[in-house]
Amino acid sequence: MEGMETSLAKVKTALRNANQIVFLGGAGVSTGSGIPDFRSPEGLYHVQSKYGVPYEVMLSHDYFEEHPETFYEFYWESMVKKGAKPNAAHLALANYEKAGHRVVVLTQNIDGLHQDAGSKRVYELHGSTRRYFCPSCGKKYTLDDLEPHGVPHCSCGAILKPDVVLYGEPLDEAMLMAAVDDLRYSDVLIVGGTSLNVYPAAGLIDYFMGGTKIIINKEATPRDNEFDYVYHDDIAKILQELLS
Ligand code: ZN
Repeated sequence: MEGMETSLAKVKTALRNANQIVFLGGAGVSTGSGIPDFRSPEGLYHVQSKYGVPYEVMLSHDYFEEHPETFYEFYWESMVKKGAKPNAAHLALANYEKAGHRVVVLTQNIDGLHQDAGSKRVYELHGSTRRYFCPSCGKKYTLDDLEPHGVPHCSCGAILKPDVVLYGEPLDEAMLMAAVDDLRYSDVLIVGGTSLNVYPAAGLIDYFMGGTKIIINKEATPRDNEFDYVYHDDIAKILQELLS
């Protein structure tokens, strides 16, 4: 087992020599911005106990269609944190890109904080709570256009849908293809703040063909053994060290 300093130096060399790095991030990236991971044990318990259904049901397409009031009550309470700011993890990635490196971000998060930090190439695999659309007339809205409580309606009268991928809904195929292309042409993969249990993240990393794979997560993941460097540590702290 190498010491932390030796491994950091080696990773930094790999980063320096890379034409493009790809970051695949999950909920752990945004917890530092005050956005709770609803898949954490506390989050899951909260959903089940308060609403009487598991979160997979609450956040499903059918539930949204059948119970928009309850869906939006939970959604505004747990999925949207208006005023949340990017934290040091988002900023480390954005600043590395600003410094002239090619950085691609694939995120499972729906909070828009990578873009707020300044990242330009972001694939939002599960959509964004910043965007809304009318299933009836197609009109588009942003989070800033809406009051974050109650059921939001279009000017035509229909109930608006968040542009997030609910359970039972397909992912954006074109976006996935583009993300896979970017993965294939990256030399370093950094996975952070995810236990790689959630589709499609777990499958996506199989498309990476570059030389260096790094994972940063507080807890061990079932796929740690596939990575060259494993940090069970704070994501912001490690990203700042690697990308400074
Ligand atoms: Zn409409």
